[in-house]
This record gives sequence, C-alpha cells and structure tokens, in this order.
Amino acid sequence: MMDERIIPAEMAHIRHLSQAFRAPQSAQPLESPKNGRKPAMPLVTLLLLAFGFFVLLSASFKTLSKGSSVIPDHRRSKGAHIVGGLLHDDLNGYRPCHSRMQQHVYRKASAFIPSSYLISKLRRYETLHMKCAPEAENFIKVLKSPELLQKSDCRFIVWIDYSGLGNRLMSLAGTFLYALLTERVLLVDRGTDMSDLFCEPFPHSSWLLPVGLSQAWLQGLDKSSPHRFGRLIDKGECSVHVNLSSVPAYSYVHLTHSFDIQDRRFFCDEEQKVLNQIPLLFLRSNLYFVPSLYFVPALAQEIERLFPEREALFHHLARYLFHPSNEVWGRIVRFYDAYLGNAEEVVGIQIRTFDLTKMPSENVTSQVFACTIGNKILPNASNLNQDERSWSVVMQKKPISVLVTSLHQEHFERIREFYLSHSTEQGRLVRVQLPSHEEQQKTGKAEHDKQALTDIFLLSLSDTLVTSPMSTFGYAAQGLAGVRPWVLTRPGEQTYQQYACIKALSLEPCFHAPPLFDCDCQGGRDPGKVLKFVRHCEDVNWGLKLFEDAPLPIGDTFF
Ligand code: GDP
Repeated sequence: MMDERIIPAEMAHIRHLSQAFRAPQSAQPLESPKNGRKPAMPLVTLLLLAFGFFVLLSASFKTLSKGSSVIPDHRRSKGAHIVGGLLHDDLNGYRPCHSRMQQHVYRKASAFIPSSYLISKLRRYETLHMKCAPEAENFIKVLKSPELLQKSDCRFIVWIDYSGLGNRLMSLAGTFLYALLTERVLLVDRGTDMSDLFCEPFPHSSWLLPVGLSQAWLQGLDKSSPHRFGRLIDKGECSVHVNLSSVPAYSYVHLTHSFDIQDRRFFCDEEQKVLNQIPLLFLRSNLYFVPSLYFVPALAQEIERLFPEREALFHHLARYLFHPSNEVWGRIVRFYDAYLGNAEEVVGIQIRTFDLTKMPSENVTSQVFACTIGNKILPNASNLNQDERSWSVVMQKKPISVLVTSLHQEHFERIREFYLSHSTEQGRLVRVQLPSHEEQQKTGKAEHDKQALTDIFLLSLSDTLVTSPMSTFGYAAQGLAGVRPWVLTRPGEQTYQQYACIKALSLEPCFHAPPLFDCDCQGGRDPGKVLKFVRHCEDVNWGLKLFEDAPLPIGDTFF
C-alpha cells in the first residue's frame, strides 16, 4: 500500500523537520489555554458556561460509576467484558482480578471476532485444565517413577520462564496454542516474577507449576540437557527411528534462537507423532514460533479452523491469556486516567534501540519525527505563532496524547520539546508522556518487569502505534491492541531504506528464527515461499509471519 508510506520526494521536507528539533527555532512555547488572552464574557455566556459545567459534572459522575474517571464514550466498547466471548462469563464464585473485569472499559472493541470454534475449544480447555492441573502436584514423583504419568489420561506441557518480557509473551502464547492443538494442559514456570505480573487466566484453577520442581532443575533443561527432544531423534538421518512404544515419559523441547537442526524437526509431522506419545513436555523458547506450526499438516488444519482470520491469532490468544496482576493494572489505569484518558487520540510510540552505537540517538528521534509527521500521525509545526491563532480553535479540540515508551528518556524529551517550542498545524495541542525510563534491561527483577508490563499495556491502549523493528515488546503491544502499527525501518535494511517507517500489513508478530522447510530432507526450502499466507516479515526479512491471503510475491521481494 504505497499511499500509506512516505514517498521518497517527501524526505527532503522531513529532513527539514528533523532540523527543526535539532536547532529549535525562536517560536514561543505553546501557552497553556488558561494563560491565554480571553475575550470579555457577558453574563449570559457565563450562565451558559455554568450550565455546561453542571452537565459535564453529572456526566463524569456517571462515568465514574462505570469504573473509570476519564474514559470518553467513544473509547468504550459496549458489553465487551468477555472480549467477544473469549473469556468465560460464568464466574460462579470465582473472583477474577481487576484487569480481567475492566480492560474492556479502556479498550476499543476489537475489529476481530473470535470464531465460535475457538470459543468452544477454550471452554473445553478450561474444563480439562481444571481436571488435570492438580496432578502436577505429583511431578516430582513422576520424574522418579515415570510410569505414574503413563497411567493418567492427562498430558502436560510446561512453559519455562526465559528471556525478556516481550519474548516471554511470544513463546507463552505459542506454547498455549500448541497445548490447545495437542490436548495438553499448559503449566507455567513461575520464574522469578510470573505470579507478580499476571493473574490466572483459567477459571477455578491455576496455570502456575506447583513449587515442587526446583528452579535449578528447570534451568538445567537447556541445550545440553540429556532430556532434549532433539537428542532423542538425533539419528543423523532424515527419517525418525524411534520406537514409539519406548519413548520417555517426559522430554525437553528446545526452541530458542540457539536450536539446532534436530530441535527444529519439532515442526515436522513425523516428529510430532513421537511427541504425541510423551505425556510430559517441558518447553523453553524466546520465539514466536507459531508460523512454522502451519508446516505440520496434522496441526495446520486445526489452527485454520480455530483462527479463520489468521492475522488475529496472537491478538485473540493475548487477550485471552494475559491479564496483569492487580498491582500492575493499578499502575496502568492510574497512568491512563491521569495522562491519556481525556485525549482525542492516543498515539503510542515504542522506541527500542538494540545497538546505540550503530545509530546515534538523535537520528532515531529524527526517524520518529519523519515517520509520524510525514505520515500525518502527528501534526507538523506551524509557521503561525500561537498568538495569531484564535483561542476558540484551540479550546474546541482535545489534545493528542503521545505515549512514548523507551528505556531512555532522551527521545521523549526531544519530542516533548518540539511540541512545546512550536505551535502546530490546525492548532492541535500535543501532550507527550513517558511512563518510565529504566535505562537498562533488568529482566527477572520484579519491579522492572512490572514497569515493562505496564508500558506494554499502556501502549496497547493506543489508537495508533509506532513501533520499533525486531522488538517483541512492540509485537506484544500491537497484538493486545489489535492495531497494525507503523514500524520504523531498520538501519541497514535494504528494502525500505528510503522510508522512515512502513505500515505493517499484518497484526501478527514475527518469528525471528524460522527453520528451513526441510521435513523431507530435500535440501531445505525458503519457508517464506511455501504457503501464500506465511511469508517473510516487514521488519525482519529472514523472519516468518502470518498474513491474510495476499497476492503471491513477485520475485524475491514482496513489495
Ligand atoms: P525485545 O528485546 O524488544 O524483543 O523485548 P523484550 O521485552 O523481550 O526485552 C526487552 C526488555 O527490556 C523488556 O522486557 C524490558 O525489561 C526492557 N525494556 C525495553 N524497552 C522498554 C520500555 O520501553 N519500557 C520498559 N519499562 N522496559 C523496556
């Protein structure tokens, strides 16, 4: 969609814009409307104003009683507390946490409707979880006497806590999908802070792995573990020679970026038959591996039934699974109500820089300006001085709130300074906010991760999103939001280097390390060219992503 991108000819103008914030012009800072010159007010006007104030006050009382003080009506979604049926409605003594009950108040209704098949599958899963989860209390005994598990009709997959928060959300959603597809019960390793961050998603039971298995034992499940599934099938040949009657009771699936050619055979039909015989799986991943599940015929058919709208797969799973704890939700709504709630529009800008030395920080901010102003996401600076504007124009419009999330403060400061130093086209007020600047990634530290989750959820409440390339933090926010983001282009990326950002063609996250398509050992094919709806990502050209049906790519590029 060429019209949604910055055309190269506009770049000169955008370069000019970035000059504007590097060397601020002498324009006066925007004055607060309260300090501006006001026309004298006759008595009738005052009475009318008083009446208006009364009406507003009573409206805000009604709003408060609905649970939030400042959410304008256009942001509410009616009767959406069960998220289109994704969440079950039968509370029956179950007291879910606040985020589960209140998110719909803060979100626009999703443009994507979950299939009735997905909804019924989730209800069946919840029943299975309730029945089987208590058996996990015996896992320590099971590891010593695996035959115990073989007697049970419950099968499990344990997700191991690993990596940054965005990566965790990616792999957890993928693991849950795999559990749904293979009729397993998902249990979540608590790691250092999973229970501080999230509420239980399944009613009347827990998704947390009981404390019996030690962290040291779980952390030993890694590439060198003797329980690795890749080793079990590692025969140095293409076909699997595993006696299905003698498979172990448990195995470890290694699906991180460091997986090898054998581990990657997880995405093949034959290996799935072996896995199917193993009642207890442990899985470690930092990847959104869902796109490659479409290459397993035995799984693909069921995924298609569950998610007829392919690009909404992560979106539905994320809205079903991820409910911030009461503490984190409290932070989210306090920030939202105080700084974002009464805006005409909320624009979320996620700035994640992986290697500061490659791209100077000022250039990153310039790129953000080029993207947002060039695509009319944010208003440009005006040539007019604020004093030349009519107050009535400014007063009539609510501000645009810009939510910047970043580990660092500097981008926020430059953006805020730009909008304080210039009046804008059409006199729009732009309010710029930064909920945190942690300076360093401190994954596993509870307070840091709570703030990271707060930032992801705040971003996900935006109307428009600008995200950074290759970042699972941004993928998580866009998926929860149900908003296709504008993605900043990656420095050095050839395909789009003339653009500051491009509008994503699909809401789905990108799988950053997909294996070649090689289940038949014919030398390996580009996995982005096997199915027309599983293709390379806009931001990572070797990655893999789900798209709605689209024209087949021409040559080696898609655009
Ligand atoms: P990715 O590395 O961008 O794919 O995302 P991850 O979430 O997996 O890892 C990055 C981690 O760095 C986050 O989990 C946070 O701990 C931290 N981080 C990065 N960007 C931000 C941000 O904007 N806000 C906060 N609070 N933390 C961030």
